[in-house]
Amino acid sequence: MSFLHIHNVHKRFGSTPVLKGVDIAIAQGDFLVLVGPSGCGKSTLLNMIAGLDTLSDGELLLDGVRINDLPPAKRDIAMVFQSYALYPSMTVAGNIGFGLEMRKVPRKARREAIERVARLLQIENLLSRKPSQLSGGQRQRVAMGRALVREPQLFLFDEPLSNLDAKLRVDMRTEIKQLHQRLRTTIVYVTHDQIEAMTLATRIAVMRGGELQQLGTPQQVYDDPSNLFVAGFMGSPS
Ligand code: ADP
Ligand code: MG
Repeated sequence: MSFLHIHNVHKRFGSTPVLKGVDIAIAQGDFLVLVGPSGCGKSTLLNMIAGLDTLSDGELLLDGVRINDLPPAKRDIAMVFQSYALYPSMTVAGNIGFGLEMRKVPRKARREAIERVARLLQIENLLSRKPSQLSGGQRQRVAMGRALVREPQLFLFDEPLSNLDAKLRVDMRTEIKQLHQRLRTTIVYVTHDQIEAMTLATRIAVMRGGELQQLGTPQQVYDDPSNLFVAGFMGSPS
């Protein structure tokens, strides 16, 4: 059985169809990258999985449970956005631990969880700083820390690296990949960057105009594209 099943999902904004019956199933531990041109519906799909937007039709199953009617807080899912949205007045530790505090996790357990995540992301030495005292890459790590500390069943990333410069983007890409391998967690990651998709994914879903073009391993999508669009978009040799 698949761990995350996006089943015949439709989304209309007013009368405009934006997702037109998307079907994607992945296994636990998969790193699914949603890739496609700007405006093809990637963020819309991710927002629906997170519960930030409603489906027009279809359903979402996570570990066999239908989640599309659950409020975001009842879904065991954490999302990392492109804009880091850290609380400027709180320290790094405060930012990472905020969600646990909201859920009334006791101080000691909170402290331990924050330190564990900080070690994982190599930001132990930044815990007492404010976001304004951090570089872009460090802020991105804190944003990831905030998601990781909850130990959710599923992580969602929406173009998390697109605000970073090229060098940092490559470094962070490597770190996210290592993190996935270490934690064996399930990730859905949105990007419009083909190289990022090829290096991170265990499964790539290529989208265009609200429709899935192909779902496969990076090698399948690259070596055996299902149509000319996929071949062109993924830069497959002809
Ligand atoms: P992507 O993330 O792939 O760039 P989006 O999912 O953000 O694409 O958007 C897909 C399409 O839906 C775009 O044409 C966008 O303009 C439209 N769209 C997104 N959000 C809304 C909204 N809240 N209201 C109306 N149209 C929207
Ligand atoms: Mg988007």
